[in-house]
Amino acid sequence: MSTNAACIFCKIVKGEIPSLKLFESSSVFAFLDIQPLSRGHALVIPKHHAPTLTTLPDEHLSEILPVVKKLAIASGAENFNVLQNNGRIAHQQVDHVHFHMIPKPNEKEGLGVGWPAGATDMEKLKELHQEMQAKL
Ligand code: 5GP
Ligand code: ZN
Repeated sequence: MSTNAACIFCKIVKGEIPSLKLFESSSVFAFLDIQPLSRGHALVIPKHHAPTLTTLPDEHLSEILPVVKKLAIASGAENFNVLQNNGRIAHQQVDHVHFHMIPKPNEKEGLGVGWPAGATDMEKLKELHQEMQAKL
């Protein structure tokens, strides 16, 4: 299990920084977000330290979504978003992989989403489809 002494989420896992823990297993830790976007906003993290999703080995990922689901049910939220940010311009502030479970009780509270949808261009989409498929 990789850990980083300077990482605040690794410190939370180790209990060096207090948190309002919701769930813990051998590979996963979940707790309430300290600056919630809405009531019930919670974070699920792998105990293994990795800065981004693409640097996290698969075996540390498998339990995450079932825990996100448990939190969503426990929050009682009818509407909610699951968010996972990677990189500064994608709004990642803490460099330890984390999944947000954010209840959306009304238009004002919870996650606000900008969705700058582009026009449909089937030629460009087909080109991209081939390019990506070749790398999978
Ligand atoms: P990001 O923008 O990186 O996706 O989200 C980081 C989240 O971690 C933010 O929602 C922020 O409120 C939360 N956070 C940062 N530091 C702490 C902390 O020390 N304790 C808890 N519980 N949450 C934190
Ligand atoms: Zn960490």
